[in-house]
Amino acid sequence: SDVLRQNMAKSSDEPAVKRKKVDNKMENQADLEKVAEIQKKWELPLWKFRRGRLCVTDITSQSWCEQQLLYTYTLPTIPVENKAMVKGSSLHLARELEVHDIVPVKVTSREDSWAIKLLNIMDAINGLSFDRLCIREMPIFGDPFEMGVFMVGIIDELKYNESGELQLLEFKSRSSSKTLPGKAQKLNHALQVMLYKQMFDELVSGKLSREMILGHVNLDEGKVLGSAVLDHMQKTGIHFDKFGELLDAALLQFQFSSLPHVDSLEIEYCFQGDCLSFATDKVQFDSDWLRKKLDHSFLFWRGVREAEGVDIEDAWKCQNCDFVDICEWRKKKQQECMEKNQISINKL
Ligand code: SF4
Repeated sequence: SDVLRQNMAKSSDEPAVKRKKVDNKMENQADLEKVAEIQKKWELPLWKFRRGRLCVTDITSQSWCEQQLLYTYTLPTIPVENKAMVKGSSLHLARELEVHDIVPVKVTSREDSWAIKLLNIMDAINGLSFDRLCIREMPIFGDPFEMGVFMVGIIDELKYNESGELQLLEFKSRSSSKTLPGKAQKLNHALQVMLYKQMFDELVSGKLSREMILGHVNLDEGKVLGSAVLDHMQKTGIHFDKFGELLDAALLQFQFSSLPHVDSLEIEYCFQGDCLSFATDKVQFDSDWLRKKLDHSFLFWRGVREAEGVDIEDAWKCQNCDFVDICEWRKKKQQECMEKNQISINKL
C-alpha cells in the first residue's frame, strides 16, 4: 500500500515520524474525548435548558409539575403576562422603592452584570450589619449544600424583627380574594424561602469561593469592567478595575461579615384589590427535607431520570395546565388507572 511504500522509503527517520504520529493521535483522541464530553454535557437538561445554572424559581416550578416545566422548555409557547402577574410585579416594585432608589447602570458584558449583583449584595450586607436596615430584592447565589449545582435567586426581604432575629420574608400577592393558597402552593412557597435561607447562610459563612463562581458561571476574572460600572463603583468608594478584584473583595466581605444566619422565615400575603397585607405564614426550616427535595430535583437536571408529572392526588393541577391535551404523563397515568380498575373489576 501507499503507506507501506512511504514508510519503507523513509526508514532512516522512521522513529521520529512514528513518535510524531503517535503524539498527534493522542492529542486528537484527547480532543475528541473532550468534545464528546462537552456534547454530552450540553445534552443534559441542566445545560440544554439552563446553561448550567438554575434559578430558585426553576426548583419551585419543578416542584409544582416537572413535566409542565419540561414542556415550557421544549414546546413552542407564547409567554403570556396576565393582569395578576403585572399587578404582582408592580406591588413588588412599589415595596422595593419604599426602602431604596434604583440607580440605572449600563452593563456591557456578563462580568458587568455579575459585578452589579456583587455590589448589590455588598451594599445589602453593609446595610444589615451597620445600620440594621430593611433590605429588599437582594440577589443571592451559590451551590446549596455543595451538591454541584449553581443557583441564583432574589430574596424579597431581609430585616431584624422586634425580637432581634434576622428574618427572611417572601412577599406573595393574591389576585382574586383575601384567601390563603392551598397546601401545594404553600409547600412551594416554603421550599422557596428555605432555599434562600440555605444560600444566604452559606454566603455569610464564607462558603462561596472564587473557583466555584468563576467555574460555574464561566466568567473572566481578568475582564476590565465597563466604564458605567467603574464610574458607579468609584462613586461608592470602590476602586477596582477588573472583575476578579471586585470578586475577591466581595468574597472577603461575605466571609468576615458579622451577620448571623437567618433565624425566621415568613411568607406575607397581600390582596391585589386593596394592596394591603392580610396574612403571614411562618415556615419552619427543615434542612433534611430541603436536601432530599434538591437531591430528587437534580436527578432530573443531571439527566439521571425522566421528567415526572403530578401524582394522582394532585391531578387537579392539570385543570389549569396549558399542556393538558398533549401531556404524555397524564395519558400514561390515565391508562394505568384504567388497567387497575379493570383488574379490580375482574377480581370481583
Ligand atoms: Fe403536569 Fe398535569 Fe400539565 Fe401534564 S397536564 S404537564 S401532569 S400539570
